[in-house]
Amino acid sequence: MPEKIFIGVAWPYANGSLHTGQIVGAYLPADIFARYHRAAGNRVLMVSGSDQHGTPITVRAEQEGRSPQEVAGHFHREFLETWERLGISWDLYTTTGTENHAQVAQDIFLTLLNKGHIYKESMPLPYCPNDRRFLPDRYVEGICPHCGYDGARGDQCDNCGKTLNAADLLNMRCRICGAAPEIRSSEHFFLRLSAFNEPLKAWLADKGHWRKPVLNWTLGILTEGLQDRAITRDIEWGVPIPLEGYATKRIYVWFEAVIGYLSAAKEWAQSRGEPEAWREFWEGDAARTYYFIGKDNIPFHTLIWPAMLMGCDGLNLPYDVPANQYLTVRGAKASTSRNLAVWVPDYLSRYDPDSLRYHLSATMPETSDSDFTWADFVRRNNDELVATWGNLVHRVLTFTYRHFDGAIPPPVEPDESDRGLLARAEETLAQVGKEIGLCHLRAGLGAAMAMAQEANRYLEEKSPWKIIEADRPKAATALHAAIGAINALKVAFYPYMPFTCQRLHSYLGFAGAVTDRGWRFVVPQPGQRLAKPEALFKKLEPSLVEEEEARLGH
Ligand SMILES: [Zn+2]
Ligand SMILES: [Zn+2]
Repeated sequence: MPEKIFIGVAWPYANGSLHTGQIVGAYLPADIFARYHRAAGNRVLMVSGSDQHGTPITVRAEQEGRSPQEVAGHFHREFLETWERLGISWDLYTTTGTENHAQVAQDIFLTLLNKGHIYKESMPLPYCPNDRRFLPDRYVEGICPHCGYDGARGDQCDNCGKTLNAADLLNMRCRICGAAPEIRSSEHFFLRLSAFNEPLKAWLADKGHWRKPVLNWTLGILTEGLQDRAITRDIEWGVPIPLEGYATKRIYVWFEAVIGYLSAAKEWAQSRGEPEAWREFWEGDAARTYYFIGKDNIPFHTLIWPAMLMGCDGLNLPYDVPANQYLTVRGAKASTSRNLAVWVPDYLSRYDPDSLRYHLSATMPETSDSDFTWADFVRRNNDELVATWGNLVHRVLTFTYRHFDGAIPPPVEPDESDRGLLARAEETLAQVGKEIGLCHLRAGLGAAMAMAQEANRYLEEKSPWKIIEADRPKAATALHAAIGAINALKVAFYPYMPFTCQRLHSYLGFAGAVTDRGWRFVVPQPGQRLAKPEALFKKLEPSLVEEEEARLGH
């Protein structure tokens, strides 16, 4: 029976280009996971979309004298192009700007209101007398009352990850004019999160398979006790509150963005002409739900969204939230203002997508932060992709193509080491699949690369190029085994490096897609025609390290 796997991936704000920190945090791991499950024959629905709402968009729009719509539309189109070029294989990538999303978000709001999980109350909020407006979220900045970080925003501290209420910030300032805001009262809707504290603890009791930092952080918040949270804002850009009398307020961007997972599933079902098809991924024990996010999104996916789902009753809660830690640049979190980031469209204008996918997968910050350096990137590309995996493929295929008339030769009396290589390749393919299924993506890639090294050692030992004249059958046997190992590694590497593995698939003489043949160990038949092979990867000049480092800010 195929498994049903729903994959929700963080909704990026459409207010700036995507950088490698976001890619490694959420999009690449989700894509690897989705590609593996599809290859294994499981039913997958992977969705996300551009977050068009909230103060990240309006702040940028005001700075540039454009409308929020223009800013969001511009970056949404850029994101679509980035996904295509980087190979992020969405089943649906939409936006929070659709009519469908507004409707689904308003339905959930009203359901929770009618069930008593949402209530109305006045709250003290920062108001700037100069700008004559309330200052939601990113319009204020100050010192985090929990960790002392100066630069915490009105909704969350990026340093300790805690969600905040703007009025709690110390030394608060208006981000438009720099003045100290006054505090005024404004009426808002609140999600009764405190009532979900104990149900969430009970739900987490069987989540031992979660990554330790994610589970421990979440349990720590529940031990302190969840507080009710305002889910509306004094802003006019966003999803309207579906009640009379709130024309100057909107539903808080985070409350509605997480609902995007459900609205996107519904949009996907409608676009297939099967409007109820979303249910198979959202209802019942047969489906499992995964959320791929960066660590700054943990509270919204392990506390707030599960509480909302519990409150609605009947929709599946997350099975796993494999949040990644940060990929730093020069030891710091990516920063747009300091240009301390590797921008993906910029990267793709000069280099191949699979080199980046490989490097980010190999350094994925699964349980602790890792640091991106161009020197590491070049070293891995040259030593691991070109010299180990690429060289294994290239010398086996070009030699076979030339000496065996463009076809896979038959094995003749294979010995123990020939059979051993194929056995190890089969085990490796199974192991890589198991690791990916457990969201251990780095370990899966490591196992595949170790197998490529082993295949290289086998070839050194057999040296078919030295014995081709003296013992052609023995050379043929070694090449046949090496091609079997390469074919298994093609499948194992495919979720990580889909572009080059698809090319390799055609060099090996197969038609169609790698995934058509499943996550299965198959030794190609002797006699199968090869296509003329080309190198899979390009060697990079060490001098580019200095050039690229110079582009980065400090
Ligand atoms: Zn903090
Ligand atoms: Zn101001």
